[in-house]
Amino acid sequence: MTYLRLEGIQKAFGSTVALHGVDLEVERGELVSFLGPSGCGKTTTLRIIAGFERPDAGRVILEERDLTDIQPERRGMGMVFQSYGLFPNMTASQNIAFGLRMARRPAAEIRARVTEMLDLIALPEIAARYPNQLSGGQQQRVALARAIAIEPRVLLLDEPLSALDAVVRTSLRMEIREIQQRTGITAIYVTHDQEEALTISDRIVVLDHGRIEQIGSPREVYERPATAFVASFIGQTNRFEGRVVDADQGLVRVASRLLRVPPGPLLVQDAIVQFVVRPERLVFDPGGTLPPEMNRLEGTVLAVTYLGATDMVSVDVDGRRVVVTAPAGRSGPPSPGRSIGLAFDVESCHLIGSADGSEPLGGTPSPSTTAERR
Ligand code: ATP
Repeated sequence: MTYLRLEGIQKAFGSTVALHGVDLEVERGELVSFLGPSGCGKTTTLRIIAGFERPDAGRVILEERDLTDIQPERRGMGMVFQSYGLFPNMTASQNIAFGLRMARRPAAEIRARVTEMLDLIALPEIAARYPNQLSGGQQQRVALARAIAIEPRVLLLDEPLSALDAVVRTSLRMEIREIQQRTGITAIYVTHDQEEALTISDRIVVLDHGRIEQIGSPREVYERPATAFVASFIGQTNRFEGRVVDADQGLVRVASRLLRVPPGPLLVQDAIVQFVVRPERLVFDPGGTLPPEMNRLEGTVLAVTYLGATDMVSVDVDGRRVVVTAPAGRSGPPSPGRSIGLAFDVESCHLIGSADGSEPLGGTPSPSTTAERR
């Protein structure tokens, strides 16, 4: 049985349509992220689940019960916001106890639960401190403990790490994931940070302009993006466009080259198709040593960016930028201006169903471009 279900959720604010019809099924114990650019409708969806907004159409169903007309405080949701939202005149313990006191739970049970929560967030020593005596990361841990203390039916997190610095963000997102898995709480996590969504989620819902572009595991949305938008929003990618010259063999003509892609239903004879190849799937071709069935490109090195464990090398191929990330080797990356061969496996090519109007390699030039025309 599906635990939480959104059915045809629509929402407009005046003439702004925030959600066009969102359908989603969440299983018990899952952590599902809503990921997308600013204004795509992530927070509106979360607020509709919480009951702070009413949808114009559609239903929110939790364990087969329609919540659409239920007040927020009766839905059993726990919330964590970007701004920690702790009560400044209460200690950490009192903040954590707040929801339990409202629910009139016995004092002994509240004390035990607060201790348990402080242990869960690994901060027993800050029990008596007020929010202004805590760091941002500690305040957000307390906010998380406060939300979990009431044993919410769903934990809703709205960009909970955005106000924190990068180091705290990285460690706290791992802690949130560990706590969510340990407690088995079903969680919805809103973020615009693709790395955060990839590392923390069981599944990611990618939204754009109030529509779901793709729902999938982190691996699925990264390795098999459904659309050009998903491919470009999640990680870096190289996008190619060409005409199918042999659908059975998977041969596509991209500019003047014949490249081979995996066969599939999108490959229709003579159709124009697009496919993506991630930068880490491209390798430099030293000539003669790589398997002959690999796809090959030639170009000129434009720039090299040192990223520690890897080098990111951009290469001009037919006037378009192709990006390669390669492990930083002892011999160093190729220098700018050098001619270079690139190669990639057939399996590294992923066909995408729809374009977003930007310009891929081999495509017809257009004024808007994410494939960075030189
Ligand atoms: P962000 O990452 O910037 O918070 P988001 O994906 O969470 O963005 P929403 O806050 O859900 O986006 O907003 C979706 C759209 O609805 C936007 O165009 C926004 O301007 C609009 N919107 C949201 N709330 C309201 C409101 N109360 N009144 C008018 N328009 C609103």
